[in-house]
Amino acid sequence: MYSESTPLSKVLGKREATKFRTARDITTVGDLLGYWPRRYQSPESNLAAATIGSYIVAVAEVKSATTRTMKARRGRMLQAVITDGTKDLEITFFSAHGHEGKLLPGTRALFAGKVSSFNNRLQLAHPGYSLLSDLDRGERRDLIPIYRAVGNLHTWTVTECVRMVLDLLDETPEAIPEQVLDRRDLMDRTSALRGIHTPESMKEVAAARRRMSYEEAFVLQVALAQRRARQSQESTLARVPRPGGLLDAFDARLPFELTSGQRDVGETLAAEMARDVPMHRLLQGEVGSGKTVVALRAMLTAVDSGGQAALLAPTEVLAAQHHRSITAMLGDLAEGGMLGGSEIGTRVTLLTGSMPTASRRKALLDIASGDAGIVIGTHALIQEHVSFQDLALVVVDEQHRFGVEQRDALRGKATHPPHVLVMTATPIPRTVAMTVFGDMETSTLSELPAGRAPITTHVVPEDRPGWLQRTWERVAEEVAQGRQAYVVCPRIGDDDEPDADTEIFDADPSRGVVADGDDGDDGDDGGPDDPTEEEAPPPRPLASVHRVHADLVANPALAGLRVEILHGRLAAEEKDAVMREFAAGDIDVLVSTTVIEVGVDVPNASIMVVMDADCFGVSQLHQLRGRVGRGGLPGLCLLVHPGVGEAPHERLDAVAATTDGFELSRIDLRQRREGDILGSSQHGVRSQLQFLHVLEDEELIEAAREDALEVVSEDADLSGHPRLAALVAARVDAEQAAYLERG
Ligand code: ADP
Ligand code: MG
Repeated sequence: MYSESTPLSKVLGKREATKFRTARDITTVGDLLGYWPRRYQSPESNLAAATIGSYIVAVAEVKSATTRTMKARRGRMLQAVITDGTKDLEITFFSAHGHEGKLLPGTRALFAGKVSSFNNRLQLAHPGYSLLSDLDRGERRDLIPIYRAVGNLHTWTVTECVRMVLDLLDETPEAIPEQVLDRRDLMDRTSALRGIHTPESMKEVAAARRRMSYEEAFVLQVALAQRRARQSQESTLARVPRPGGLLDAFDARLPFELTSGQRDVGETLAAEMARDVPMHRLLQGEVGSGKTVVALRAMLTAVDSGGQAALLAPTEVLAAQHHRSITAMLGDLAEGGMLGGSEIGTRVTLLTGSMPTASRRKALLDIASGDAGIVIGTHALIQEHVSFQDLALVVVDEQHRFGVEQRDALRGKATHPPHVLVMTATPIPRTVAMTVFGDMETSTLSELPAGRAPITTHVVPEDRPGWLQRTWERVAEEVAQGRQAYVVCPRIGDDDEPDADTEIFDADPSRGVVADGDDGDDGDDGGPDDPTEEEAPPPRPLASVHRVHADLVANPALAGLRVEILHGRLAAEEKDAVMREFAAGDIDVLVSTTVIEVGVDVPNASIMVVMDADCFGVSQLHQLRGRVGRGGLPGLCLLVHPGVGEAPHERLDAVAATTDGFELSRIDLRQRREGDILGSSQHGVRSQLQFLHVLEDEELIEAAREDALEVVSEDADLSGHPRLAALVAARVDAEQAAYLERG
């Protein structure tokens, strides 16, 4: 009678439908069925667990009930005693109206409420309850689903609505092919929905969840498999370096030996670019593993073959730095067409959003004419009026900030589909790589170049007397030895939001929940459905670049040191000037936001202090500290946090305990809410992955990937799988919509 696309307004009463829409954005039958119980209550009682202040949910029987007229106010009051056979508990309603007819002795019901005390006896005042006869409708159920309240609709109203919908739901169309259901031992979709909302056992719940998670993984993997299939059909120009060209000249002057990993990856890239099918490769490598050289060699291959290469960086600071360091590494090879430049040389051009019009115009011309063999820029490169003469290779640095669609936009600028290399220093667990970058092949640089000194990390509780001052003294000691320091803060100014370039890690998982803490106290079945949904304490003020800068300048320990600031809101030239001065050693201490998080490479910097380190994610801290210990000097990273009693600092301890980026990224993934790890730019995936746990569901994801390949290889356009085709299309649409919204 109903399908999953039926609007809820056709199914439920107006009040309920409106609540679902406004409180949870639930508008269709399918949305409602996707609103899973947060847990399941067994009908066994736990009245024994009642202590003052605890929140209990318990099945109990009404033992006695009396109403009496109150002296102080009008109306009658209902007092009852409920029991689970071993323990009794008083319940009280100050208005008996609506309850006295229901709570008759002998009635069994599910009660929920916060335990208080009255006259030295424990009681539940105004508990929510639902008669078991209603809940069970005569069926004996071993599990009662408990939903998160929806506006002021209590969990049991949600239960009733879900049941109503389930009762009238037609067999829902199946997206997973029959043989896959069999092979993976998965239940059909309709049974899974029932298994989630009206289970007989936790075993059934688990099987139902597994089926729904699988479906999600499967749809995603089919979309990726289709993408890969399309990509393998594309044809492009093979790009082969010319003997005696730029690459040879560059290799000859390289001041260091490539690591064997760099050589291997270089060979892989060369082989793939030499094919007439576009390369799609993800290069992951620890912070400092030397990805830039690898990418540059591939870019030189592109130029040698007569084409251009574009390097896309996530921030202006990083784009400018790449421009500087690549120009420096190339020397006269980057002065093509200029007096004194190498004959075989090319031009390296920078293009960012905030460039003055004149230089911007010049850059655009160089790009269009092909004079610029290597183009480095921010997302400004993606804009429509940038056109290339012959874009052969696109390199995306620090991919976690770029989405699939952005890659596509750049690819669209080439006459022939370009080869694509994506680099990331955030180690990506295998399953995430399969999920987010499932359309790419992966290479990994696992060794660091020889001669890297280790980074030591310590946690500094600010409330320990003298520790913070000792931290600044350590900074001064490093500077006295000719080294430089970073001080990282989560905010720019005291009244500011965090820097736009800063991604603050939300340490308090309840924060996202407070907004919908409407607990439904006004219904008959009132009572918040979960006692943990309490107000988060007001956030304490976080260290800001301006304040810390002022403090440091005034700090006698740092007297005479050159302390400067850097953040995302400075004008581009200012940022650039500060970074140049820091790179040149003219600044001793750089107080900045996380604009320096990725890729910034100043080998002389040996110490980093991170203020309010507990605001940052594990992987982010790992990235940050990768800025020190780069030049053969041992690195020191001090993670300052407010001290005991504040947010847990296990995260900081974890960062201090290991420098293994892969291990840290697993910790990170586990601590963040699912999907967050995919980063803000992976919005599409995030908003769609409702059930799948990217880390735990490894086996499931692998199975789904295998099955998806099989389905797509037999039926590339899914014409024989209409339901699957519809889900895949919906997912791709949602991703694109999210991309457009973001602009
Ligand atoms: P990341 O992988 O973090 O982007 P970079 O490419 O910035 O690392 O490299 C970090 C530093 O190591 C740079 O200063 C770079 O010149 C240097 N480097 C790269 N490869 C080697 C190598 N094989 N031997 C020595 N130093 C290297
Ligand atoms: Mg880098």
